[in-house]
Amino acid sequence: MGILGGTFDPVHLGHLRSARELMAALSLDEVRFIPCGIPPHRELPVAPASIRQAMVEAAIAPCSRFRLDTRELETGSPSYTVTTLSSLRNEFPLIPLCLFLGMDAFESLPGWHRWQEVIDLAHIVVAHRPGWSVPQEGALSELLADKLTDRAGKLHEEPAGCLFIHGVTQLEISSTAIRTLIASGEDPQFLVSRAVQTIIENSGCYRS
Ligand code: ATP
Repeated sequence: MGILGGTFDPVHLGHLRSARELMAALSLDEVRFIPCGIPPHRELPVAPASIRQAMVEAAIAPCSRFRLDTRELETGSPSYTVTTLSSLRNEFPLIPLCLFLGMDAFESLPGWHRWQEVIDLAHIVVAHRPGWSVPQEGALSELLADKLTDRAGKLHEEPAGCLFIHGVTQLEISSTAIRTLIASGEDPQFLVSRAVQTIIENSGCYRS
């Protein structure tokens, strides 16, 4: 199972396309999109949880293997990845869990709550950026030295514990840029799906 957590404020084509490509590269049956409730490391989302959930639902509808998972929205506490993965691991004791991270998220990993436990609960799958090079020092370089594999099949042999880095089509889209664009009166067409654009327009959630 692939897992893509995020604020999804809003979910955009960069999220969807990279999840699609990682799912195919790893031959996964399912990817769960897990919108976070209260992000612990950043300011509160702009759109309410109900709208972010509706946007994810609408965005993933065309892909039958994409699923919405609302567990982080249902707790009233900050959404720590380690807590979410523990909860998934309790539900699915044996299957491989593959946590998808963009390179920015991977680079921030050593700042996460109980980050060293993450790889014991899931494989970490990083969508990489051209020109990125493996860190030569620091906590991530140790993780890479210990856990990196270049064999996708290995992620099916163990439930967790591997790090896999895979190139995806680069779509330089960010939710922040989309919110800024909308607040300045511009149109997010072709950055988000048509269904997400409709929800944004009807709710007015990013209007200045
Ligand atoms: P913001 O601009 O508000 O920080 P974001 O666009 O980075 O938002 P998030 O919801 O914070 O979106 O990201 C969730 C996950 O998706 C993270 O792992 C992030 O690295 C990844 N991600 C975000 N944008 C892209 C993109 N354009 N291509 C691939 N992965 C992405």
